[in-house]
Amino acid sequence: MAEPLLSIKGVHAGYGDVPVLWGVDLAIERGEIACLVGSNGAGKTTLMRTISGLVRATAGSIAFDGAELAAAEPDAVLAAGIAHVPEGRRLFSAMSIRDNLLMGAYLRRDGAAAVEADLKKMYAMFPILAQRQEQDAGTLSGGEQQMCAIARGLMGAPKMLLIDELSLGLAPAVVDQLCDALRALNREGLTLLVVEQDVATALEIAKHAFVMDTGRITRSGESAALANDPAIREAYLGSL
Ligand code: ATP
Repeated sequence: MAEPLLSIKGVHAGYGDVPVLWGVDLAIERGEIACLVGSNGAGKTTLMRTISGLVRATAGSIAFDGAELAAAEPDAVLAAGIAHVPEGRRLFSAMSIRDNLLMGAYLRRDGAAAVEADLKKMYAMFPILAQRQEQDAGTLSGGEQQMCAIARGLMGAPKMLLIDELSLGLAPAVVDQLCDALRALNREGLTLLVVEQDVATALEIAKHAFVMDTGRITRSGESAALANDPAIREAYLGSL
């Protein structure tokens, strides 16, 4: 494999004295969609938060596009090119959709015209956001909020987007629409790491999959191979 865009080695992290990640190793290729799956409480969200600097790694390395980010603050991680769509979306519900999207661009230094051009791209990708751009984000449906959260992440012009729980609570048609949008973004060169509780959806969209269990990556490989693995099928796909 070529030099990975994101290479995580031996990462430990937790909350206070409680360790959650116990030596995570994971590598994401430039230009791929990868997924992270695993049972509740396995540490997926904690790993995403550790990559984006919200939780401090206590050991190990997080190398991204030539830079070491294990000790970086969230702003520096975003400036390095990683944007995070958090679990629960965390939109500013009393702010307009347009202002939420502009919040995603707050670190950019490439000028108002470039930001405005990207805003237009977001509206083209998710036309409902264009129609409702002056409406408060809190008035959106769950699926529309996820679109807004993804678009807000993209407004930071990242090289890589982390999405925590893409489909949770959303109708299948909305999930299909989101997956199509992610595939289109990926064709344009965006690298994605998606945490997804629906393992079938995750394996369908991703080239590589990582399975997490009690703070470690316990399985990884091509999604197609994992989808045919009897142990994965039994544990996550409800069939053998
Ligand atoms: P889920 O799919 O249920 O969100 P997850 O794989 O994303 O699970 P995490 O949310 O990373 O798992 O949680 C891993 C462990 O860390 C759990 O035992 C959880 O209780 C604990 N944990 C998560 N957030 C905190 C926090 N803010 N403070 C203390 N412990 C936490």
